[in-house]
Amino acid sequence: MNTDTITAISTPIGEGAIAIVRLSGQEAVEIATRLFDGKRLTDVESHTIHYGKLIDPRTNEVVEEVMVTVMRGPKTFTREDVVEINCHGGLVSVNRVLELVLANGARLAEPGEFTKRAFLNGRIDLSQAEAVMDLIRAKTDRAMNVALKQMDGRLSGLIQNLRQKLIETVAHVEVNIDYPEYDDVEEMSHEMMKEKTKEVYEEIERLLQMAKQGKILREGLATAIIGRPNVGKSSLMNALVHENKAIVTDIPGTTRDTIEEYVNVRGVPLRLVDTAGIRETEDIVERMGVDRSRKVLKESDLILMVLNYSDELTEEDKQLFKAAEGLEKIVILNKTDLPRKINLEEVDGLAEGNPVITTSIIEEKGIDELEEAIAKTFFEGDLDAGDLTYVSNVRHIQLLKQSLQALEDAMTGMESGMPIDLVQIDVTRTWELLGEIIGDTVHESLIDQLFSQFCLGK
Ligand code: GDP
Ligand code: ZN
Repeated sequence: MNTDTITAISTPIGEGAIAIVRLSGQEAVEIATRLFDGKRLTDVESHTIHYGKLIDPRTNEVVEEVMVTVMRGPKTFTREDVVEINCHGGLVSVNRVLELVLANGARLAEPGEFTKRAFLNGRIDLSQAEAVMDLIRAKTDRAMNVALKQMDGRLSGLIQNLRQKLIETVAHVEVNIDYPEYDDVEEMSHEMMKEKTKEVYEEIERLLQMAKQGKILREGLATAIIGRPNVGKSSLMNALVHENKAIVTDIPGTTRDTIEEYVNVRGVPLRLVDTAGIRETEDIVERMGVDRSRKVLKESDLILMVLNYSDELTEEDKQLFKAAEGLEKIVILNKTDLPRKINLEEVDGLAEGNPVITTSIIEEKGIDELEEAIAKTFFEGDLDAGDLTYVSNVRHIQLLKQSLQALEDAMTGMESGMPIDLVQIDVTRTWELLGEIIGDTVHESLIDQLFSQFCLGK
């Protein structure tokens, strides 16, 4: 086992009043002791924190005022000895501390190396490790909860259950093959195989369905604001952004023709796209044609369709409805401060049962109702994200899809009367694929690649 001592800044660079330089490895405590002017850290109790100064042994100068936490393995994140040096959050001071520990026996951690050690030392499984990564990227509290749940090993538990079901079935079949004389057992195992594969299949399907919600929690609900010129799209966008904490994001691939903003609406991260950029010159439907704009709209998870309450419905409005037909949407009748001209029954017909909200953005009316409606579309009223196990990781989703395919093959095989020992191959394959999610059957190189995706210091 690799037990050299690694170190990194484990708090976000440039954020917060306190920064932490973390060390992990055999010599973590010794290195800190050499630099620390205060209590003798090699003698202190584990999991205690100590105030003192960091001294550069080459110059005897005080580098920083610090709080040092000493945590002896195995009750630590990596299961190794861990020391956390809390110092002032500024870039300069934290870098000085890092340089000091680097100059005194620690090595700079590779991205994800702390988590990798936690994994290699059996502290967490792979899906939990990946959850750490999601946690770093979590955009709202709800997204954070999902990641935390996964770190708890909730997904792992689920996957292990499914694998258990599959392996029991396989074992059963093995017995049959070894003792072919028991005909009735053969029958039973066929039935059991059918039943269990179906159970596992349905569970995986459910996980994949929820994965979509998980994705939204992490990346934001792609929300398009559409409507003809002057109905109040930009005003709506501004209102939503002002009312809600904008979310800082680093998601690549922002569309250039459009303006995007991230906001947190009642725990739902919205990626708001104002089509203003396109519309300002020409109408979206006209410019791109119904098919193209429909495609753009289709990529949205939610459409906010803005209409002018004080105007009659126009042909353009109806075209937009047509382009957004069958998609998840909320219809907004804006400018209720002005006399109504719009035909409400006609709107209801076009809305296809989707919510219709009236607003006066200028008078700040109806925004609450709109937000309520947005949260409802996502959480379907009483769904509490905290109770669900989301699969939020692309690699996991990929593996689940492959598992589903393998199970489908098994099921088709059984339908067409394929011998059970052949069906079993697909079942075993499913078992292996699920194992890859929790890191039971993954190759070393995959592990390296995965952990290198982590932020430095985790
Ligand atoms: P967009 O072209 O759809 O983006 O519309 P804008 O947001 O630019 O708004 C067009 C005009 O309508 C602006 O002058 C807004 O001030 C005005 N407006 C927006 N919301 C309301 C509203 O609720 N009531 C009234 N009376 N005017 C509004
Ligand atoms: Zn506008």
